[in-house]
Amino acid sequence: MVSKENYGFIDHFKVIAAILVIAIHTGPFTTYNEYVDFLFTGIVARLAVPFFFIASGFLLFQKIRGEAAQDRATIHRYIARIATLYGLAVLIYLPINVYAGYFSSDFTVYTLVKDILFDGTMYHLWYFPALITGVLITSFLYQRFSFPVMLVIAGLLYMIGLLGDSYYGLIEQSDLLHAIYTQMFMLFDYTRNGLFFAPIYLILGAWIAKRPLTGQTRGVMAFGFALSFVLMLIEGILVNQGKLPRHDSMYIFLVPTVYFLFSFLLLQKGRGGPYIRQLTTWIYILHPFAIVLVRGIGKATGTSAILVENSFIHFVAVTLLAICISHVVVRFLTRKKTKRATKQRAWAEIKVAHLKHNLEELKRLLPPAAELMAVAKANAYGHGSPQIAKILNQIGVGHFAVAELEEGIALRKQGIKGEILILGYTSLKNVSELIHYKLTQTVISEEYAASLDECGKKLQVHIKIDTGMGRLGEAHDNIGKILRMYRHEHLQVTGSYSHLSVSDSPNHEDIAYTKEQIDRFHNVIRQVELEGINPGILHIQSSYGILNGVDEICGMSRAGIALFGLLSKEDDVVNRSIDLRPVLSLHARVTLVKTIQAGSAISYGRNYRTSKNSQIATVSIGYADGIPRRLSEAGGYVLVRGQRASIVGNVCMDQLMIDVTHIPGVKEGDVVTLIGQDGGETITAEQLASRCNTITNEIVSGIGSRVERVYVE
Ligand SMILES: *Cc1c(COP(=O)(O)O)cnc(C)c1O
Repeated sequence: MVSKENYGFIDHFKVIAAILVIAIHTGPFTTYNEYVDFLFTGIVARLAVPFFFIASGFLLFQKIRGEAAQDRATIHRYIARIATLYGLAVLIYLPINVYAGYFSSDFTVYTLVKDILFDGTMYHLWYFPALITGVLITSFLYQRFSFPVMLVIAGLLYMIGLLGDSYYGLIEQSDLLHAIYTQMFMLFDYTRNGLFFAPIYLILGAWIAKRPLTGQTRGVMAFGFALSFVLMLIEGILVNQGKLPRHDSMYIFLVPTVYFLFSFLLLQKGRGGPYIRQLTTWIYILHPFAIVLVRGIGKATGTSAILVENSFIHFVAVTLLAICISHVVVRFLTRKKTKRATKQRAWAEIKVAHLKHNLEELKRLLPPAAELMAVAKANAYGHGSPQIAKILNQIGVGHFAVAELEEGIALRKQGIKGEILILGYTSLKNVSELIHYKLTQTVISEEYAASLDECGKKLQVHIKIDTGMGRLGEAHDNIGKILRMYRHEHLQVTGSYSHLSVSDSPNHEDIAYTKEQIDRFHNVIRQVELEGINPGILHIQSSYGILNGVDEICGMSRAGIALFGLLSKEDDVVNRSIDLRPVLSLHARVTLVKTIQAGSAISYGRNYRTSKNSQIATVSIGYADGIPRRLSEAGGYVLVRGQRASIVGNVCMDQLMIDVTHIPGVKEGDVVTLIGQDGGETITAEQLASRCNTITNEIVSGIGSRVERVYVE
């Protein structure tokens, strides 16, 4: 599955579409040539709103997975979001409604309901109820019919719509039809609504979401677009000459035009993002407001003659103003979110620049053509998994490794592109998810390979060879079994790998063992290749393999701990020279400072007693956040105001106590550093780990989910 992040061209075209809508409502060329303006705003620009519909159908139905309860919840959430936005937009325009006399004599409950359900309380707001109605119809049909049937039904609805819109002239030839349409127009002002207009585009979007397009069809899409676009122009000109239209929103060739355009843009690679998507929404919502504002400005400054009377300048002014206001709104909405309650209790600061630096350093140690697979398991070693992978993905890392299925799905859902390898075991029950999310599964044994194959679905895998780690993988000397693993019909082998157990050790015997493991691996691969089998990309070294330069042959290396600028142990020495910079620092706050009499017990278990009258501060971090409980017994300390302060008493679940008697001025709210630098003092993650008799990996991956991750350049 491709995720939202890939749809840059869709996102960008939506901005263009929003500007086309502004054109429809301002008529940029009317000052110069009415007919040209008609061609542009009455025909060309009409692809804008259907484009919004098809994109909505696409994005929504990507999330529909065929699990009834979950899908219903997805649809409900979507509709709730659109309804909220609609409600907000209605409120925003209320003052303008009042000013424009909306609530005058012909206002009734009936007109209000009709407007809210179909026409919108402002001329552009019909889009929101149309989207909601369209989504309801689409999901109703989706549960019952195949796509061809859905398209036929939506096509018929569209035809009814056409006859109330650009082809209305045909209706007037029949008294009966004319009477029917007159009745219909009592319910809504136009047929370009959620009933007749939106469904076909939403369904086409859903269809594209369910039947992914491939790269080869780009030319076809471009050609299809060009052809239908020209036909739509001709159609628009002809119905106009025939004086058929009652309104000019719906054309027959608008459907293929939008379908091909959307498909074409979908096949382009580009980066969009939430900002640009929100911007579009707000340009759409706010542009009539910008029109009112520009008129007001024109009047107030006496520049109406240019600003309003010249249609093109008017259009440009409205567009610029709408973009500016929308930008401010989006910034305001997003800023409020990030400002709320950050760095309150316990947080890890993640230095993105250091991550990028470490990546470059590690790549420098690899052969030029070799790939680096970023190991992002265990919440990216505690650094925050989707975020770290996103940053790396954006700067070109195309291979990721995770421990388990859920971690892989989380990355895909956040739009991570490229290969995601699951290093661990995945239950056979979840094979369909492996496929759906395009995850690569490690084949951990011959038996597992056979079971995977029996699922009968094409699956990407890497074969794992156990060369002496004694964990996952088929034993290197079971060559018959290994060959069988490669020969399964449904398993598409894209890589082969093994894992080293002592590549961090400078001990001679260990170095020999690592060499032996590597030899065993390449031996297996040679035999695989002799059988005419392609083993795919090879990888055996992880961080310490790279740092000690143990293998030169493999096309890829898996880096975990080193990527985060850390060594597993404080006093490790490695062969290659490299400048690694720690990415993470860990902080909390002083929440209370109190004077405690000599001889008082601190914390659970009364393990610690004050030897003199002391200033004791409580700190807002505990073992549930990853601080080992016995750290005080091991002589653990923290940094506050650039000085060391010992941890006193057992670490609690959410808090710990420190002695700050020797540090003047410590007060509530002070930042406490558990890993990182404060003034001239530093505590490294390696130091903390060795104090607790463990390795750095355990400390950082144990940083709890409550700890906020704050990303800074
Ligand atoms: C965790 C893991 C890695 C990453 O190891 P680092 O020493 O952190 O670089 C690589 N390969 C496998 C199979 C792993 O489980």
